[in-house]
Amino acid sequence: MSPAPLDASKLTITKTTTPKELLPKEKLVFGKSFTDHILEVEWTKEKGWGVPTITPYHNLSLNPATSCLHYSFELFEGMKAYRDSEGKIRTFRGDKNMERMNRSAKRAALPTFDGEEFMKLIDKFLTVEERFVPTGYGYSLYLRPTLIGTNVGLGVSAPDHALLYLIASPVGPYFSAGFKPVSLEATDYAVRAWPKGVGAYKLGANYVSCIEPQMQAATRGHSQNLWLFGEEGYITEVGAMNVFFAFVNEDGTKELVTPPLDGMILPGVTRDSTLELARAKLDPKEWSVNERKLTIHEVKERADKGELLEAFGTGTAAIVSPIDNIEFNGKNIKADCNRETFVVK
Ligand SMILES: *Cc1c(COP(=O)(O)O)cnc(C)c1O
Repeated sequence: MSPAPLDASKLTITKTTTPKELLPKEKLVFGKSFTDHILEVEWTKEKGWGVPTITPYHNLSLNPATSCLHYSFELFEGMKAYRDSEGKIRTFRGDKNMERMNRSAKRAALPTFDGEEFMKLIDKFLTVEERFVPTGYGYSLYLRPTLIGTNVGLGVSAPDHALLYLIASPVGPYFSAGFKPVSLEATDYAVRAWPKGVGAYKLGANYVSCIEPQMQAATRGHSQNLWLFGEEGYITEVGAMNVFFAFVNEDGTKELVTPPLDGMILPGVTRDSTLELARAKLDPKEWSVNERKLTIHEVKERADKGELLEAFGTGTAAIVSPIDNIEFNGKNIKADCNRETFVVK
């Protein structure tokens, strides 16, 4: 028999008998409280995808020699379910997350799956967890699809057992500063990703090396790092957000710039939506919208000349986050977040 594909119609649901009390909105901290259930599907090389289950939220029981605990066979996605003005629950461009998750899985030697089937399972999960989707601007249910290697043994090889699961956390603002602007430290004493590396995949392994530099940046009052690459000081991304800069040129025309998908940045869904919207909505006589390389030196020089209009980060968790300051080599590059830079047609 050939290994079974992922099949949402096999789903079984066991509901909790001890439903949690909903937290008041002001108590929601990003990724700290979870809904009542977990969605899980086991995979083996021999049998393929097993029966998907939704069961009460629980701990995982793993042998200490499980491969994800030793060699980072782990990847994830981040997406959000919102409640629209009629109270209906909507997910945002989930097909994009499914494509990316499968790209990550392939690169991490973990099993791929039919993204449409997983989206059907996510929809079922949302029906079960409906009451956890908060209402209000900026509030949503953050969804965390995760895939881990669960084969047991210390040999370094492609996992022949894996677990695909989904947990969810009701959320409000991502940064502790709330929906206020963020301050970044442009970091060149450590590097997040490099050419032909895995920076373009949402692998857990990409994040562990960024936290110590983030702690250093925090001691200087910054909430995130702006990751640079190379002697030239190329700007890549923020580590959980892609980054955009708006400039005004000497002739009065304007440019919206974000670094290109060169393998060193995560291809964000919010980045893609931002580019698409900017290209559709900004007046092309006034604006050019470019994916091009830019350096921290260009941003500094243009800010000094008064040509930096705005800077912002994009990502599912943080949505669109204005950046009001970037510290580089002890100097602060200031951006004004209160302009009306983007007037749409
Ligand atoms: C998830 C993520 C982003 C943002 O991607 P979205 O699809 O917009 O959420 C940006 N950078 C990194 C490193 C990420 O992990």
